Amino acid sequence: MKKPSLQILQDFEIKKKNWEEKANKAKREHPLKILKTLPKMVFITKSTHRFLRLKALIYLLKYDSMNLVKKYVLKNPLKYGFRLLKSYISIFSYTQKDDFFFYNLKTKKELVQKIKDPHSHFILGFSYCHKPFECPSGRFTDQCVNDPQNPVCKQCFIGKCVYLSENIAHQPLFIKTVHHIGEKMFEACKQYPKKKIVFLITACELTLKMFADWGNMLGIQGIGVRLQGRVCNTMKAFELSENGIKPGLTVVTKSTQEEILTILRDCQFPLDFKKTSPKFRFKKLISKLR
Ligand code: SF4
Repeated sequence: MKKPSLQILQDFEIKKKNWEEKANKAKREHPLKILKTLPKMVFITKSTHRFLRLKALIYLLKYDSMNLVKKYVLKNPLKYGFRLLKSYISIFSYTQKDDFFFYNLKTKKELVQKIKDPHSHFILGFSYCHKPFECPSGRFTDQCVNDPQNPVCKQCFIGKCVYLSENIAHQPLFIKTVHHIGEKMFEACKQYPKKKIVFLITACELTLKMFADWGNMLGIQGIGVRLQGRVCNTMKAFELSENGIKPGLTVVTKSTQEEILTILRDCQFPLDFKKTSPKFRFKKLISKLR
């Protein structure tokens, strides 16, 4: 894998440091409502975990108000049916290391390679439940104004990621519900049939596990980052959250934040990435030799 040039890495570190200085200043002048301590909660309760894959299937079908099954799955039943069955008969539909859930990928490095590949379409998504309470775009929305002058945005980890991924070709996604993730993934698969859909999203463990088999059905690859804090660890809490009722705040822990930022740092390249693609460099070489 080609390493990002030193200059790009230095620029990234400078941007990150500047952002952090502004965030610290905003924190002193305009403190946000945050979790004082990280609650010790199980990620999914024992009873919720029982038959979770079956519960996920029932939930996804029952609340399919976007008609994803009719619009996409039933239009290609053999392809999707085969992949879904294959996922169901495998013991694990993902692998996990700490807060990172890998779907058809083994390492973070592999994701970076995929993101940098011009034949991939990269979706970078964030669950609404870790938006600050004071978010100017509202929490239960698919919007993020990321206003550099706003003291809330200045302290928001989502804002930091959005700012630091300016040079990465990607589709941002501010996630409201598990169906919302599915909708955007189906749309991307339809819109870019020749590209590999890759993703990096944050979500609670329950969502990451419920989405796994459907992700395999779509044939997409990526990493789901598990949230901590006031997560939804029962189906009841999950259903309420899916309807915008989420009084608690979730967080990406500091060490996991750094790991996400390292992924974003390592896949930095100019937006007009076609000019840096192997195909372009090969054409350029040929024209020089002529
Ligand atoms: S950066 Fe986006 S998500 Fe964060 S507070 Fe601002 S608008 Fe909300």
